[in-house]
Amino acid sequence: MVEKIFSLENKVTIVTGGNQGIGKVVAFYLADAGSDIVIFDLADASEVAKEIAEKYNVRTAAYVCDVTNPTSVKECIQKAADKMGKLDLLFNNAGICLHKNAIDCTPEDWLKVVNVNLNGIFFMAQAFGKYLISNNKKGNIVNTASMSGTIVNIPQGQASYNSSKAGVAHLTKSLAVEWALKGIRVNSISPGYIRTEMTGTVRQDWQDYWESTIPFRRMGTPEELAGAVIYLLSDASTYTSGSDLMIDGCFTVV
Ligand code: NDP
Repeated sequence: MVEKIFSLENKVTIVTGGNQGIGKVVAFYLADAGSDIVIFDLADASEVAKEIAEKYNVRTAAYVCDVTNPTSVKECIQKAADKMGKLDLLFNNAGICLHKNAIDCTPEDWLKVVNVNLNGIFFMAQAFGKYLISNNKKGNIVNTASMSGTIVNIPQGQASYNSSKAGVAHLTKSLAVEWALKGIRVNSISPGYIRTEMTGTVRQDWQDYWESTIPFRRMGTPEELAGAVIYLLSDASTYTSGSDLMIDGCFTVV
């Protein structure tokens, strides 16, 4: 019974930013829960798609898609739907971070971060929502926000990132309400510091500082986010929409 409500069997899930980091690891877990997987990434993720198909015996596909480009997003969703026969779920996860003090941010810096992290999440969610509604289908979306949408990280300056992630959490609530009666649930996860390609190259003294300030005294792993994404995408959470799940080793609690 429990296994059944968390099952993603007979589902097709799009994972954006799935070529590496959180998206890649979570894509493996979604496949393990039974879902077919479609990866959208700036890079060609066909190797990752192949690996997932071989390991879990599910159908997979990969498309080079820039989530900031609404035309590219629309075309890739159409191609994915044609190839897989249908689409059910979206892990809307692609994002970038810029460590730069607000005072030094150029207009281009600011626009780039907000464009990927907020506009990209919106373009993907909107196109996916349109696909579901026009095909009379129910579905679920999980957006990747961040604890940075709630707190301000130090010592690094990252106002563009923090603001974009606060926007993702509120966009999530807005879409959840607009689509509540259309059978489309929209939730977000807000990870704390997670060890990935994004954080792994940050200067060591900052990483040491972060770890010393996390009550768990360590960064999280992408694997520690997978259960939350499966929960929010599956029938285990049918009365949950517009929520933001903080997964941060207690960072925002203190
Ligand atoms: P990574 O940098 O490891 O992975 C991000 C992926 O997104 C990359 O494959 C990247 O492709 C892709 N991507 C970037 N821009 C675009 C775009 N315009 N269109 C399509 N794909 C794109 O980051 P993480 O896995 O660490 O982060 C994933 C998400 O989690 C992000 O939204 C991030 O903000 C969020 N997050 C991460 C935390 C952390 O501590 N790591 C904490 C909280 C939230 P490419 O490399 O080819 O550019």
